[in-house]
Amino acid sequence: MKMNNQMENAENSVLHTYNRFPVVFEHGEGCYLYDSEGKEYLDFAAGIAVNSLGYHYPGYDDALKTQIDKLMHISNLYYNEPIIEAGTKVVEKSRMSKVFFTNSGTEAIEGALKSAKKYAYKKAGHAGFEIIAMNHSFHGRSIGALSVTGTAHYREPFEPLMGGVKFAEFNDLDSVKALVNENTCAIITETVQGEGGIYPATKEFLEGLRALCDEKDIILIFDEIQCGMGRTGEYFAWQAYGVQPDIMTCAKALGCGVPVGAFVLNEKAAKASLEPGDHGTTYGGNPFVCAAVSKVFDIYEQDQIIDHVRELTPYLEEKLDAMVEKFDCVAARRGKGFMQGLVITGRPVGEVVKKALAEGLLVISAGKDVLRMVPPLVIEKEHVDKMAEILEKCLA
Ligand SMILES: *Cc1c(COP(=O)(O)O)cnc(C)c1O
Repeated sequence: MKMNNQMENAENSVLHTYNRFPVVFEHGEGCYLYDSEGKEYLDFAAGIAVNSLGYHYPGYDDALKTQIDKLMHISNLYYNEPIIEAGTKVVEKSRMSKVFFTNSGTEAIEGALKSAKKYAYKKAGHAGFEIIAMNHSFHGRSIGALSVTGTAHYREPFEPLMGGVKFAEFNDLDSVKALVNENTCAIITETVQGEGGIYPATKEFLEGLRALCDEKDIILIFDEIQCGMGRTGEYFAWQAYGVQPDIMTCAKALGCGVPVGAFVLNEKAAKASLEPGDHGTTYGGNPFVCAAVSKVFDIYEQDQIIDHVRELTPYLEEKLDAMVEKFDCVAARRGKGFMQGLVITGRPVGEVVKKALAEGLLVISAGKDVLRMVPPLVIEKEHVDKMAEILEKCLA
């Protein structure tokens, strides 16, 4: 009853841009969430790959509270202590050169695109450069990020968008090569496509893109917003491929719950793109969010969060592969680390997701037919077992 009233109130005021699941969450603890009527849910969605440390991870809340008591916000006209710490850690772990903090993933994409355009502008002395993006990609909802998002029905109502964007096929190097010309300034791709249905890039594709971009002096952008921050068993998914982008975007788990994103540039891109006056943000990289980012990196290091992902991945994959074997409606598994998808056939994936919710398990969908799991990185075997038990019940 309580939740029904709350949901009705929500629909009376909050713009209906989401068909929300019928649940009002009230608090979380570890890898579990609780709704406002007290029901418990095992969380294999993590706020869409955000809450990598689950809820109330030891030390995290205290670091934020301490920063609130010191300073929440100060303009980027001044230095602050947390941005220095957070920036140092991002650069160190990515082995890239410079970082710009944003408020979201979408804004990180905007910054990456602007950097690439400015790089080409400086080099050639004129504007009007083109960008190649991938079909079935997702990069965000602003006009710029939407322009490089490879789903036509997301883009169509808002056209004309940013000009000069062409779409190639993910994991098909020839389709990219066919679109490159002397005006191409950037190629942008997710390292592991998330919203599109959990498709990891192939090594040949990323290596091929790197060689192509080196040959033609094109800026290579990897979107690590969903697959980054340890989810695939490396800080950033590209690190497992040994292929470094010129610019990487990051967000979601970067602050494990505070609104923060970043675009990170290698030396080449940092030296010859954005300059004072080219880009800015009021909130981006403020002391509060940067205290969170800094603490997240400390926790990852101290508690070897990424080693844990690597260690537990085979167990998770084994359980999911068993479902592929056991159920006709599960056609395949795809993914890397704790970013996994099951291809559901013969019934709508949304039905399975709803059933799981009713049974106390949060999972989400991706693409047309993929059941997506992006759990907190701190799940243990017992959580995997419980997930499998509930999901098998839903699939039966
Ligand atoms: C979520 C996501 C975005 C957009 O990030 P927001 O923080 O929602 O703006 C961009 N790219 C990818 C790959 C994402 O998963």
